[in-house]
Amino acid sequence: MKIEVDLDKKREIEVGDGGRVKFRLRDIAVEPGSKVNLKKDFDPDFTGGYEDKAGALEHVAKNVERLSAMQETLYAQDIYSVLFIFQAMDAAGKDGAIRHVMSGINPQGCQVTSFKAPSADDLDHDYLRRASVALPGRGMIGIFNRSYYEEVLVVRVHPELLVKQKLPPQARGKDVWEKRYKEINNFEKYLRRNGTIVVKFFLNVSKEEQKKRFLARIDEPDKNWKFSPADFAERKHWDDYQGAFEDMLSNTSTDWAPWFVIPADNKWFARLAISEVVTAVFEKLNLKMPEVDDARKAELALIRAELLAEKD
Ligand code: ATP
Ligand code: MG
Repeated sequence: MKIEVDLDKKREIEVGDGGRVKFRLRDIAVEPGSKVNLKKDFDPDFTGGYEDKAGALEHVAKNVERLSAMQETLYAQDIYSVLFIFQAMDAAGKDGAIRHVMSGINPQGCQVTSFKAPSADDLDHDYLRRASVALPGRGMIGIFNRSYYEEVLVVRVHPELLVKQKLPPQARGKDVWEKRYKEINNFEKYLRRNGTIVVKFFLNVSKEEQKKRFLARIDEPDKNWKFSPADFAERKHWDDYQGAFEDMLSNTSTDWAPWFVIPADNKWFARLAISEVVTAVFEKLNLKMPEVDDARKAELALIRAELLAEKD
């Protein structure tokens, strides 16, 4: 049950005045079963050798138009749903990327869910429940801004959060993370079999770039609202988070629900890369408008005749 995306197709994208961005989706995909070393394997500053923000965003806009048409077919077909998951350190650009890449989509066909710290009610249930109830229905695109992956990220970096979950002993032993990876992989396989395609993005921002963005949020009054001291506190755990991300990527990138590591130091390139993955996923779904059978055609012809025959 492979996720059908052509990873090796060259993405030679014309942007701006004849400039070209070159990359393959394979450059940013996490090979299932591989052991990820973020520093060595993925450069947050990668831009496919090109530096034209405006041109790239024009290309994103074109992708959005195509996506909008494909989404309409997804909705009409009413069989599959597509779930895009976004995870990242603070200020990596999740919100902006979601806004740009999904901007042209019919709001009725798309639903964004942001996952914050769990409520008392959430903590009274298994950790996948709140994600389950937020899953996109058939024909819909769902976006998770953070997700159940926080359960192997923030909860791993802050073990006291695990204590709050009141788990039975077999679910909080030393191998808790290994177990959770397996549970998540099985959950996503189950979703895939039942018509939900899950594709995951980790926005890979560097520590230096996060510092720049935090400083901008402090120095520019318009951006003050975006800054939270809690984000600064999490930065102090940077290395622990990188380790947790590496382990998550190594253990949960699967044929049926792959991870893509999006270079995120340049927002324009992050948006371009995400929109290329999103359109590639839809293209391979090979969506078709539902077939109209003879009985339905006859019914429509009859109604048409009646409409034309109406007197007033
Ligand atoms: P923004 O700051 O751009 O509005 P955000 O995603 O950072 O978006 P916040 O409200 O700042 O939103 O942060 C949400 C917080 O909730 C994060 O610190 C995250 O780690 C935490 N969180 C999410 N899921 C869980 C979970 N399952 N267990 C514990 N904490 C979680
Ligand atoms: Mg935040």
